[in-house]
Amino acid sequence: MREPLRYHSTRSSTETVPLGQAIAAGLAPDGGLYVPEALPRLDPAAFDPRGRLADTAATLLAPFFAGDVLADALPAICAEALSFDTPLRALPAHPHAAMLELFHGPTSAFKDIGARFLAACLRRLPRRDARPLTILVATSGDTGAAVAAAFHRQPNVRVVILYPDGLVSPRQAHQLGCFGDNVTALRVAGRFDDCQRMVKAALNDAALQADVPLSSANSISLGRLLPQMSYYAHAALGWWREHGTPLNFIVPTGNLGNALACLWVRELGLPVGEVRLACNANATLPEFFAGADYRPREAIATLANAMDVGAPSNFERLRWTFPNESALRQLLQAHSVDDATIRHTIAAHAREHGELFCPHTATAMHLLDRLRAEGDTAPWAVVATAHPAKFENVVAPLLDHPLAVPPALAAMLARGASAEPLAASEIALRSRLLLS
Ligand SMILES: *Cc1c(COP(=O)(O)O)cnc(C)c1O
Repeated sequence: MREPLRYHSTRSSTETVPLGQAIAAGLAPDGGLYVPEALPRLDPAAFDPRGRLADTAATLLAPFFAGDVLADALPAICAEALSFDTPLRALPAHPHAAMLELFHGPTSAFKDIGARFLAACLRRLPRRDARPLTILVATSGDTGAAVAAAFHRQPNVRVVILYPDGLVSPRQAHQLGCFGDNVTALRVAGRFDDCQRMVKAALNDAALQADVPLSSANSISLGRLLPQMSYYAHAALGWWREHGTPLNFIVPTGNLGNALACLWVRELGLPVGEVRLACNANATLPEFFAGADYRPREAIATLANAMDVGAPSNFERLRWTFPNESALRQLLQAHSVDDATIRHTIAAHAREHGELFCPHTATAMHLLDRLRAEGDTAPWAVVATAHPAKFENVVAPLLDHPLAVPPALAAMLARGASAEPLAASEIALRSRLLLS
């Protein structure tokens, strides 16, 4: 029997809870983010070399689940949630570099992995309340669809998605509105920040919750963060077995959940080398890592809309992981990539190598292009966070051939879609939630 691992808030370590409770709650009561008491250490030799992604995940996450009510179900949760591949594919443009493709799930973005894992955990956690649970999600595009797909037609759960009307790609909007059944899509006359504020207000509204039990599925949930470590561990272990060296990663970054998962894998003792953060024109992180004070701000709209974040929610977990600020700055680099460079990178790789990237992935690919131009020859994996066809409005005009659509996305686009309009106010959301 392993020692049980307990979890506490990034803001205070006096009160600890088991993992299942941290996953069910999302946010800690003091407004902090849940973290483990300490990150465990793992031996690379403990992983089955013939294992698939779900097997790697079950080995990796066992110490995180030790002693929890969910511990025995962990292999089944991994098998259910991580049932598609996250291949590491060689890049014709750059020798000794690869692309880690995270977009082979049902909604064609990496958010599927966290959302499906969270759903598989919540399904197994006991609830005292027999009434249906409403899962509220504010989304800038990809999270909402992933959460909807993960909970679609699940009994006793409904999903309510809030997205900024007109600020997601047309195909993202279609995906959000195409589920029906227990999924309601609300197009909010405002920005992503408004959606997030409305969801937070509802979650903090005790009177509302007495009538409508609510939960959230946003990116700060441990139930989404932990499984995201699996694909980094799987890719890095595979590379290490084949080449005998650690693998470096370039991660398209918004709220820092994906990049933090990568850094945690390195802290566990697995063969992850350097980690670089690729950001869009929202430069909060690049400025901090270049030496400025941390200055969260309002987001600006870019072509890589899922990374339009001015106050990365997982920064608090990054600080907990690396409490010494100057050591943290030594550890990581972050770079801003503007919209013109995103367009140029997509067009140039399509023309010269027949490779297609979504706008988010293009920020990371540009950093690799720059490293190679400077003479760097280290092994890098560019993390591909979404399928380019999801961002047809950006990608298609840059190509001289049609953009192929993956089957899962094509099936969703063939369905009808509808979303209800909603004013950008807490009161409007409250009334809508009480309605049904
Ligand atoms: C959410 C998202 C990101 C940013 O990931 P974070 O974990 O918020 O840093 C990047 N690319 C795509 C396609 C996304 O959906």
